[in-house]
Amino acid sequence: MFRNFKTVPYVVFGRGAFNQLDAILSEKRKNREGFMVFLMDDVFADKDLRNRIPARTGDLTLWANVDDEPKTDYVDRLTARVRDFSDGLPGGVIGIGGGSAMDLAKAVSLMLTNPGSSADYQGWDLIRHPAVYHVGIPTLAGTGAEASRTTVLCGPDKKLGINSDFTPFDQIILDPELVSGAPADQRFYTGMDCYIHCVESLTGSYLNAFSRSYGQKAMDLCSEVFLDGGEESDDKLMVASYFGGMSIAYSQVGICHALSYGLSFVLGIHHGIGNCLTFDHLAEYYPEGVQEFRRMMTRHGIELPWHRLPAVGEQEIEKMVDVAIILEPLWENALGPDWKEIMTRQKMRDLYRRILAKAA
Ligand code: NAD
Ligand code: ZN
Repeated sequence: MFRNFKTVPYVVFGRGAFNQLDAILSEKRKNREGFMVFLMDDVFADKDLRNRIPARTGDLTLWANVDDEPKTDYVDRLTARVRDFSDGLPGGVIGIGGGSAMDLAKAVSLMLTNPGSSADYQGWDLIRHPAVYHVGIPTLAGTGAEASRTTVLCGPDKKLGINSDFTPFDQIILDPELVSGAPADQRFYTGMDCYIHCVESLTGSYLNAFSRSYGQKAMDLCSEVFLDGGEESDDKLMVASYFGGMSIAYSQVGICHALSYGLSFVLGIHHGIGNCLTFDHLAEYYPEGVQEFRRMMTRHGIELPWHRLPAVGEQEIEKMVDVAIILEPLWENALGPDWKEIMTRQKMRDLYRRILAKAA
């Protein structure tokens, strides 16, 4: 059976496209009961973008803190706040921010119509009821969260997404102007998430002409952005992020993502940074990708933040291996159907020890 995957049905792209949000929501307000929930990264609480949110009387703005990557209990608390605000369901949830805020918006829109805790749905196709209408507006480019059928959450015992056909946004607005204020190092780390998606997709055993076409174009755009630079860089990176997301939708990510999830779950290392710290040690598996990644780092004067890794013991490394090893499709994509013979727990431990050797 070939994968029959759901994509985002409506996409707006262009500088200033954020201004179209009001018109898009007005259409929805006409047809449906209910208020709008603007779930916005709190980094914008004192920025001009705050004043551009097309909120009307009766709408709810939730300022989301993403100092920690999204956790299931935070999703549950945000969902409870929407429920406490009104007896009825909202007409829409609009997520504005990087991958973290977008994932929170996806998760809240799902949990408003599905009972229990978001932790109950970490996995594949466990969601039973369609989400509330939800819109994604990235303010960082790279994760592909705007395109994907997952919302990545740290739960009580694992970092795993809620993967379902109800998860993708109903509408996304890709406005490259929104990325312009992002700190240069954060822009780089999130951009590298896209680059690594492409490397892992293009070298994986799940590759096909569909994912290759998106992945190759996204990779070329990343090279242009991070090696040449130039005026249209934010526009190109935003397209690359979306294409990278489309590429992995029909293939998978690989070793870097599996190991990076372990770092993130146990040590709270953010995804983009965790990927970069990990990828730097994977020349054995992705020789060309790692070489180009290092050229991009040099070009941007990036020094990887090894100091963010604390010294850890064997128990923590075992937990990281536990988190990484359950991501079977990622390992199978990277190493083929016999991956368990190639990537033993011992090999994973060794890789983690190498990454953590530079810890503070
Ligand atoms: P992020 O959303 O975690 O944000 C990183 C930092 O940048 C935060 O401090 C945030 O406040 C700040 N920020 C965001 N936009 C800004 C702007 N325009 N100006 C100034 N500061 C800004 O970073 P990210 O790399 O976009 O997302 C990482 C998250 O995405 C992780 O939680 C990861 O698990 C998730 N992810 C999801 C998918 C998916 O398909 N759903 C894919 C990859 C990663
Ligand atoms: Zn990623």
